[in-house]
Amino acid sequence: MKLPDFNDFEPILDLRRQMAAKKQGHFELFDPERHLTGEERSRLENSGRLVQIHQLRLLPDRTLAIKNGRVVVFAQAHTKGAKQHFHVANCSVLTSSVEEQWIATTCQSSPFPVLNSHKRRSLSVCSECLTLLGYKGFSLTRNRRIRYSEQLLRHFELAEFFKTYPLYPVINAQLIIGSKEPAIMESNNNGRLSRRRR
Ligand SMILES: [Zn+2]
Repeated sequence: MKLPDFNDFEPILDLRRQMAAKKQGHFELFDPERHLTGEERSRLENSGRLVQIHQLRLLPDRTLAIKNGRVVVFAQAHTKGAKQHFHVANCSVLTSSVEEQWIATTCQSSPFPVLNSHKRRSLSVCSECLTLLGYKGFSLTRNRRIRYSEQLLRHFELAEFFKTYPLYPVINAQLIIGSKEPAIMESNNNGRLSRRRR
């Protein structure tokens, strides 16, 4: 009997991706306290989840997560006609409105789902979050960067953003304190740290 080559067998490869098992023999036991279930992930994507700031996980790179999945958030309250933004990081808008209720989602494009409402909400990215992350060199204060940054803001795509900051799963990371730009080191399978290119 000839067995299939499991390194090239799509059902197994798919299972390995779901388990975030990058190498053979590597897997992490599912822990519902720390890992999003399939149902939670689909709810985040399709309707969003109501949260308060303290329920979000602040990752060392200053992006936001629920359990092991990155999220974007926007305020639940909305004044008609007012321009509203979604946030991808722990900017001062979030930290100054801790009492506010927020909707966290993994939806990758505006308009965003608003819980059970049939009406979605059109939002643009928060420039302060992009400044905080230095996303692609974003800066609205450095003269030589302003025009470029305005373009970046106008054409910002979450799907592109999540190529730099993967949505799921978030790998355990730690901040190297003291470095000028926060260098994110990720544990590889041996528990050693390796520098991630940004
Ligand atoms: Zn923000």
